[in-house]
Amino acid sequence: MFGRMPMLDVRSLDEVMAYVESGEGEQVIISDVDNTLAPQGLSLAEFGPLVNAAIDRLEANQNVARVIALTNGPQRQVDRMVSRGNKPWTSRRRLGLRGGHGPVVVIGDQVLTDGLLAWRLRATFMHLVIDDETEERRQATMRRAGRIIMALFFRAKE
Ligand SMILES: [Mg+2]
Repeated sequence: MFGRMPMLDVRSLDEVMAYVESGEGEQVIISDVDNTLAPQGLSLAEFGPLVNAAIDRLEANQNVARVIALTNGPQRQVDRMVSRGNKPWTSRRRLGLRGGHGPVVVIGDQVLTDGLLAWRLRATFMHLVIDDETEERRQATMRRAGRIIMALFFRAKE
């Protein structure tokens, strides 16, 4: 009943766009923000424009019905972002996914939060890490733990 879900490792938002363009139907994109759409450690002045530009880019794709930028972190003055998102336990109600919708794609750098949210929602998971060189130790440790459980929840999608 709760089998493994498809997962792709990608290296850039370009690869995400290509995947979405090749997919079927109007897709709902749920994207993590930190280390997925924006590098960590940015000032507020840099963070907002970068996140808004990434959301704009995803929304401009004709195969995208809706973009939900979802962070477990604080709001940081980006009003289009859902903050304190409680991933991986975010409810369908909070995401506005209780009615009908097309295929869901979740993008994120952390399997334990973004990946497990994708699995719960029966969504494709796109694993995108934009900085694994200079990130803080706690995030890196969490990612390694996620890699260990990855194969239990996901199968590679070619
Ligand atoms: Mg993240």
